[in-house]
Amino acid sequence: MIYLDNAATTKPCDEAIRAAVKCMEECYGNPSSLHKMGIESEKVISSVKKTLLSRLNKAGEIYFTSGATESNNLAVFGAAGALKRRGNRIVTTAIEHPSVAEPMKKLMEEGFEVVSLKPRDYENFEDALINSVDDKTVLLSFMAVNNETGFIIDSKKVYNSVKKRFPSCIVHLDGVQGFCKTPLFADLISLSAHKIHGIKGVGALYKEKTVRLLPNVYGGGQQGGIRSGTEPVELIAAFGAAVNAYPENITKFSELRHTLLQHLEQLESIILNSKNSADNIVNFSVEGVKSEIMLHFLEEKGIYVSSGSACSKGKTSPVLSALGVSDKNADSAVRVSFSLSNTKEDIKEFALALNEGIKRFRRYYSPN
Ligand code: PMP
Repeated sequence: MIYLDNAATTKPCDEAIRAAVKCMEECYGNPSSLHKMGIESEKVISSVKKTLLSRLNKAGEIYFTSGATESNNLAVFGAAGALKRRGNRIVTTAIEHPSVAEPMKKLMEEGFEVVSLKPRDYENFEDALINSVDDKTVLLSFMAVNNETGFIIDSKKVYNSVKKRFPSCIVHLDGVQGFCKTPLFADLISLSAHKIHGIKGVGALYKEKTVRLLPNVYGGGQQGGIRSGTEPVELIAAFGAAVNAYPENITKFSELRHTLLQHLEQLESIILNSKNSADNIVNFSVEGVKSEIMLHFLEEKGIYVSSGSACSKGKTSPVLSALGVSDKNADSAVRVSFSLSNTKEDIKEFALALNEGIKRFRRYYSPN
């Protein structure tokens, strides 16, 4: 089996599994309980907060959530709600994950003005984002690394420029695909454990101390009332263990990417969709072969990739379109995403299978 769908999710690492099991067996107290067992659980949470802050190289606060979908909802609705009296203009991008894009639609219905920029319209997308923020903008929300093509937005450049000009504009970053791989800069940063070999069902929102957020979930007032609900201590412990196990300064992804691109160059009818992108995500189209056909062909050979188009109800991905990929190419897009356990051999086998698929299915292709 060759798993090349790591942008969708990753295999939990041994360290994460062990940390979760240990917690369930030995440290199952409710972190809000005042007795010793509760205090032990609370200590686990505090220690993982420190781990996350240290990996982010930040000194703010960490709130645990059920995953980045919830973190993004909390950041967008929470910040917009808290800032509503100051203004109603928000800047974002047209390539956001639905967990940012859908809350933005809701905010528009509530009367917010949401300006959404498409990378395909600009030569320098960071400059475009920076220049779109004005003194009426209360929130800027964008992603560090796009999940479909790996497209990178330099958060350091955007954050520093925006804060210099408009210190009161709150900057939110969807850091899911960039965490542990690239430095992240923002007032609010969404993270997910299962993209870095943690366990599904837990994420976090980093928050600068001075930023005010309204909660989305009301209840027992845990986590300072920002996110009520008993914290899943075992998932949080696994998140911390996964971060600790994730190496810094990775060079392997660029080697794997280089190998894959070399193989793709040898094949006919390949169009590369990833431009300015992270090393661990490569999106390309096989002219004339629909994504799903190729995906299932590869699956039969034990190779798992993603159909890069993320088609919903037969419609082409608005994200690929905003990144400048034509509808025809989006329809045949394949996304390959690496983990640190992938090898050059995996890539070679993938390329062989892909070539076979191209030979088999291109026979039925006629241009136009
Ligand atoms: N943002 C991005 C960029 C993602 O790739 C994902 C996961 N596909 C999410 C948010 C949502 O994360 P989760 O699965 O933890 O809810």
